[in-house]
Parts: sequence; C-alpha cells; structure tokens
Amino acid sequence: MTAWTEVGDRVFVTRYPFYDQNIGVVLGDTSVLLVDTRLSHRQAEEIKADLRALTRLPVGVVVNTHGHSDHCFGNHPFRPATIWGHERCVTMIESTGERQRQGTIAAIPDLANELYEVVLDPPDRVFAETATVEIDPGGRSVELRYLGRGHTDNDIVVLVPDADVMFAGDLVEADATPFFGDGFPIDWPETVERLVELVTGAVVPGHGSVGDRAFAVRQMAEFREVAELARLVDAGVIGIDAAVLRTPYPADAAMAPLTRAMAQLRGELD
Ligand SMILES: [Zn+2]
Repeated sequence: MTAWTEVGDRVFVTRYPFYDQNIGVVLGDTSVLLVDTRLSHRQAEEIKADLRALTRLPVGVVVNTHGHSDHCFGNHPFRPATIWGHERCVTMIESTGERQRQGTIAAIPDLANELYEVVLDPPDRVFAETATVEIDPGGRSVELRYLGRGHTDNDIVVLVPDADVMFAGDLVEADATPFFGDGFPIDWPETVERLVELVTGAVVPGHGSVGDRAFAVRQMAEFREVAELARLVDAGVIGIDAAVLRTPYPADAAMAPLTRAMAQLRGELD
C-alpha cells in the first residue's frame, strides 16, 4: 500500500518503489482519470487496490504519457475505460511491445510470468498535437499536449489547468539519469523548453520526486549540455572520453546519452 500525495486540488500522485515510478490521479465528480498504468496487470491491480483508499469512483479515462512498457503494459485491466495517448504511442506499442516484453524479461527474469500475462492494449483515443479530455461529461477536464520528440517520439504532457499541475511523463525524470535509449537528444532540449513555458505549478515526472518550474528548467539545461557536447564530439572538437566527463550525469551513465545524441546527429534515427 503506497500513500497518495495531493499535489493540487483533487490531483494525487503515488510513488511506487519499483522503477521509482509516479502514477497520477485526477478526480472528477463521477469518475477518475489515471495517468499511466505501470508494467503489468499485477502492478495495475496494485494501483486499483491503492485507489480504493482514495476514492470509490471508477477509472473512466486512462492517459499513457508514452509507449514504454512501464507506462502502458497495465492498460488492459482498466478497460472499459477509454485510453488516450499520442498517435505514435499506439505505433510504438504495436511495433515494439513484444520486444519491450522480452527485453524486460531478459533484464528481470523473475518478472517473466507476470510479463507473459500482459495483454497489450494500446490507446483507442489518439491525437497529434493537442486534445481536451473530459473526466465527467461537461465537468472537469485536462489538456493533453504533444511538444516534440524527447524521451521517445510520442511523449505527451497532461495539464490540469484548474489545479496547476503538469504530468510530464519521462520528458523529465528526477533522482536518476534520464533514459535515453529511445530518445531524440538533439530535439529534447527544445521540447522541454516548450514544457517549461506551460508550467504553472507542480511538475510530476515519470520517475522520482515531484518538482516545480525550477526543476524543469534544470532538466532543460542538462539536456542542452548533452546535445552541445555531442555536437562538439561530432565536429571533432573534443573526444568522447572528455565529453563523458563533462555531462551532468555520472560518468558510468553518460556514454548512452552521448552515443544516442551522436547517432541522431548522423541522421541514424530518422
Ligand atoms: Zn519511458
């Protein structure tokens, strides 16, 4: 049982130790909107159990911030809720879902049974740039925005305007080096710059401590440093080993961001 923290009026976050992941809830009058669904049906059932400590209302709407397994593999147990995501979130789940399943099993063999249970169930409501989602018909609503490529090609943010809260997905991550494996490090700084412009209060990252505008600005600056260092390496101004020591991240975690950024500069990600 994890605790819920109210980060804005009737907007709650719970932080699970597994992957240090945040799951968000926006309460309406007759139903609930859930932000992300975790890695498996069992983990989704844990969310459901924890939700009962908060509300008796049903989950009417789910939002997937992007198509990584820990944000959408728990979708299916929340049906018949409608599930929202970026149009390429569906593409990502359909084209990489099985690979993500196998990759996670290889990394955490103890989760094999749990992951084989997962029925991939991508969003059925999609958009390209913006969408307004009503939690109750005619009642409370949230805004979904696609701001550009960053952590993936389908990250979105969820704005709760009447509570000054933004769920930022993995476009920002606190307390650990962000995951660059599917990222677009050259685009990421500008995407987070657009994110910063929309922040009015709390910023809930996909993983780690809830932050504020200053936190998002720091993340933007770090992404800029990575992109800039990759450009210097790509131009032959400095070597990769020197660049690794100059990123904002621990040296043993810095190679992946830089190599991904250089791959993007060479046009290998398009
Ligand atoms: Zn992710």
